[in-house]
Amino acid sequence: MIKMIDLPYPINALEPYYNRETLAIHYETLYKGYVDKTNNILEKLEKMRNEGNFEAVKCLEKDLSFQGSGAILHQLFFENMAEASLESTLSEKLMNRITQDFGSFEKFKEQFTESSKVVEASGWNLLVWVPKFKKLEILQCEKHQNLTLWGCKPLLVLDMWEHSYFLQYKSKRPEYIEAFWNIVNWNKVNERFENIDI
Ligand code: MN
Repeated sequence: MIKMIDLPYPINALEPYYNRETLAIHYETLYKGYVDKTNNILEKLEKMRNEGNFEAVKCLEKDLSFQGSGAILHQLFFENMAEASLESTLSEKLMNRITQDFGSFEKFKEQFTESSKVVEASGWNLLVWVPKFKKLEILQCEKHQNLTLWGCKPLLVLDMWEHSYFLQYKSKRPEYIEAFWNIVNWNKVNERFENIDI
């Protein structure tokens, strides 16, 4: 069974960049839904194995990928944000790596911003470490589980599903993305990078 994470800040802490109403629905209803559904699928998979009836195996494994990835990405998303007043900064190690792989922090930020704008339909944008390439890349993700590079480690994720911005920003995706930069918790991003065996 998987568990919901506690929000690492009060529900109104990300205002004005990410308002209370959006965060409340996103965390309490939508994220909870992914965690609950993932647990339900895990139970059904166990039951399936115990009973030796694999009729639903295709559907359950596909659902596990979707719901489980939804649970994982939302956890990463909520944890890689923080109050704007936290004033976190990139570690020297990650800054050097970003400079090496993207040319400069500005180039990285520009690519991540432009990339987020063009995520198709419901999806995510991610800064990832790709172990097999030994470099950082940015990936657009469709739904929660499509368009990955196997083995990649997400460092920074941005939810581009409409439910993540529509209440506050309507269809103005660029404004939502611009606001996001104010509430990135770079300490958390640094920590994820530190935990990778390069
Ligand atoms: Mn979401």
